[in-house]
Amino acid sequence: MPIATVNPATGETLRTFDPLGPGEIDQCLADAAHAFAAFRTTGFAQRSALLNRAADLLEGDLDDIARTMTIEMGKPLAAARAEAAKCVKAMRWYATHAESLLADERPADADVRDSGASAVRAHYRPLGVVLAVMPWNFPLWQVVRFAAPALMAGNVGLLKHASNVPQTALYLGELFERAGYPHGCFQTLLIGSDAVEAVLRDGRVAAATLTGSEPAGRAVASVAGSEVKKTVLELGGSDPFVVMPSADIERAASTAVVARVQNNGQSCIAAKRFIVHADVYDEFAERFTAGMAALTVGDPLQETTDVGPLATERGRADLEELVDDAVGRGASVLCGGRRPPGHDQGWFYEPTVLAGITEDMRIDQEETFGPVATLYRVADLDAAVERANHTPFGLSSNVWTRDEAEVDRFVRDLQAGGVYVNGMTASHPALPFGGVKRSGYGRELSGHGIREFCNVTTVWQA
Ligand code: NAP
Repeated sequence: MPIATVNPATGETLRTFDPLGPGEIDQCLADAAHAFAAFRTTGFAQRSALLNRAADLLEGDLDDIARTMTIEMGKPLAAARAEAAKCVKAMRWYATHAESLLADERPADADVRDSGASAVRAHYRPLGVVLAVMPWNFPLWQVVRFAAPALMAGNVGLLKHASNVPQTALYLGELFERAGYPHGCFQTLLIGSDAVEAVLRDGRVAAATLTGSEPAGRAVASVAGSEVKKTVLELGGSDPFVVMPSADIERAASTAVVARVQNNGQSCIAAKRFIVHADVYDEFAERFTAGMAALTVGDPLQETTDVGPLATERGRADLEELVDDAVGRGASVLCGGRRPPGHDQGWFYEPTVLAGITEDMRIDQEETFGPVATLYRVADLDAAVERANHTPFGLSSNVWTRDEAEVDRFVRDLQAGGVYVNGMTASHPALPFGGVKRSGYGRELSGHGIREFCNVTTVWQA
């Protein structure tokens, strides 16, 4: 994939970039290793001041960087602004809380008396240079949710961003430099995915985090595994949105629309499979379909647009293949199912609801990365749980019910990294984020996220 900004609303190539050569990559690795040697010894006060400064700068740049994101990957401008604001919030949150999240842990005296120590503690030290391989869908947020905790822990970062968001990638490298981070603490490497393996195998790189597709995660994790380097993987999702009879159906249906089409349908934690109890299926299906059909598809730079184009031509082709396969095998199209008339340029696709999904359809097991929802009718709670878990993925889940016994059952049995009750999944700096099964492993955000790239050091004193 060339490293280039191609506007998905028009298909026009706006800027292309040459990838770094081997010598330039080596210099970046040397700079990162050199920066880590000093940065690891800085205190929390100094790191907080730097991160708060980066947050202030980003806040000042908010409209400009939002526009850049919209032009590079097509998300509506209001969503791009919200993404940048969320990054500012997460930076400030980690600047405030990192010290307490990484405070020494001291076991109770009674528990360690037999170890012969007079003092024992677990102490968090940074791991070193962390390579971050990141996707285009939240081009600022995915990076910041790694960078803010990693830098607060005393690590340094190397960013290999998706090839279609190079200007956002370069902006991030510059942002941390402008904030005053020593050179080498956070660098953007403009490289293709074929150059990742050599960087990851380099002895100066300690660990990697990847947010992206399952094949990319598999590739990076197998290289890291052969080098015995720590990884965190945030991969795809096909989150269930379960609606039970006691739910507020009107609110569930309107939230379902947002949960499905946020970010033009290209979010790992978007609700993708809508699993509805038979007693309320018809009412939910009618309201949800009406909501999806009423969305405005168009230029993401227009404030009135709800759904912009898909980020890449390939992404739209993949989505069309999934829909066509399902329809060819008997799925019914309740709305959408085609490119919107009048949009000859750009990679638009109509918000789509499909019903009558069967297990021979690819869409039953694969992730739909675009504004396409699948509806399932289930007879009871057991069937809802079984259907929700009938996927290779396990990122998050949404359940709608006012019955506490049902809530307990979902929390106990859903195979996912999150259960959101009567609301839609959304990440928050203070809450752990991550999945199970093919959605990956490890956690980002909260105390769990900042500790992923730490050397938990046992300190034992006689
Ligand atoms: P992608 O194709 O996997 O790309 C993600 C990143 O990995 C890009 O930087 C890409 O570089 C790189 N990459 C791809 N193949 C690689 C390989 N073999 N070795 C090393 N690096 C490789 O994913 P995407 O299409 O950008 O993003 C969509 C996917 O990400 C969806 O499945 C979505 O669910 C998932 N996602 C997950 C989360 C989460 O938190 N769990 C969040 C957002 C997205 P190039 O661009 O140069 O190919």
